Amino acid sequence: VDNSGAPDYFNVDDLLTDEHKLIRQTMRDFVKREISPNIEKWAQDAHFPSEIVPKFGDVGAFGPTIPTEYGGGGLDYISYGIIMQEIERGDSGMRSTASVQGSLVMYPIYAYGSEEQRKKYLPKLASGEWLGCFGLTEPDFGSNPGGMVTNIKDMGDHYLLNGAKLWISNSPECQVAVVWAKNEQGRIKGLIVERGMEGFTTPEIHNKWSLRASCTGELVFDNVKVPKENLLPNVDGLRGPLGCLDSARYGIAWGAIGAAIDCYESALNYAKQRIQFDKPIAGFQLIQKKLAEMVTEITKAQLMVWRLGVLKNEGKATTQQISMAKRNSVDMALHVAREARQIHGGMGITGEYPIMRHMMNLESVITYEGTHDIHLLITGADITGIQAFK
Ligand code: FAD
Repeated sequence: VDNSGAPDYFNVDDLLTDEHKLIRQTMRDFVKREISPNIEKWAQDAHFPSEIVPKFGDVGAFGPTIPTEYGGGGLDYISYGIIMQEIERGDSGMRSTASVQGSLVMYPIYAYGSEEQRKKYLPKLASGEWLGCFGLTEPDFGSNPGGMVTNIKDMGDHYLLNGAKLWISNSPECQVAVVWAKNEQGRIKGLIVERGMEGFTTPEIHNKWSLRASCTGELVFDNVKVPKENLLPNVDGLRGPLGCLDSARYGIAWGAIGAAIDCYESALNYAKQRIQFDKPIAGFQLIQKKLAEMVTEITKAQLMVWRLGVLKNEGKATTQQISMAKRNSVDMALHVAREARQIHGGMGITGEYPIMRHMMNLESVITYEGTHDIHLLITGADITGIQAFK
């Protein structure tokens, strides 16, 4: 097992098991082989490489914590975090594809679905035969998903689904969508909508400057007849989608550190090689300040997510702790990316280095799954007992 590579300033590796390290090495090899050589072109071309989906399935990137009887990995939450981190070292868009599939599509079907739904959908999603998406956000309801207007009417033998979702990762390529909609009583319900159902379309959003290798789109429901057996039976209310977001945000808290590590390593190497005023720029105090602060912040985030992983394994991690870690990791990564961009000078704006791509990707990551400010307000509400965002 090769433990080298990541900056591990506080020997966090000593807190990992051999299995964790093996999983990390497997994922790192996968990313180096399947993602890194191509990602720059995919991103520049705004191309979602659909062939990566079954490959993610083969390597176990989809639903690592879902039990093996449903095709998942049966692994613990630290393994899940490590997998997200290694993928995001490659690209946040690729990690988004895997996060959505595992945490936002497989997790709700596993946690809230019937046994028939689990058996029907989970193995195909785990193997990457099918790609899924998660429809919560609407054009007029982002940070406030409880206001959603997408709705279902009970028609006796089926539900009639109407409404629209916006900013949905994987939507243009999905076979299945987990969709959140209000019933006639105004209660939020989860439904599994399949491509091919009449009245269901998934227009793509073009011209993104961020997550360009991940496809994003809308979900439009125009009198879609959804069979009754496609309703997730075991959940009711906003806690359904929020439970999924807890799981995905946990993965992002680990994942964003991967993007930061990639930027830091690139900046460190560049600074040692780039000569100005007859010496490597790494020898200038201001460059050392940037690099030293980067590794300090990465180390703090590594320790936070490791502890969060232990709590998650024990079933004790709170939504508020996950919010804090997601916010901290993404903010840290974006700051590291911006500093790394400066260290690379003009070269930092080109596709020769991964920096600008990570930086632009992170501008989405800091907004989706709860914005930077909303997560701050979640901490604020937790420590004061007063909600400031309503
Ligand atoms: P708004 O909610 O309109 O927020 C705008 C600004 O106002 C933000 O700065 C916010 O922090 C601030 N704000 C809002 N309310 C308050 C308040 N009470 N107090 C202080 N400030 C406030 N959604 C899905 O359902 N599924 C997906 O797969 C998905 N993928 C995405 C992929 C990408 C690339 C992007 C960009 C978004 C994705 N989203 C997805 C949507 C994402 O979760 C939302 O963009 C996010 O929740 C913010 O909503 P909004 O964009 O409507 O911004």
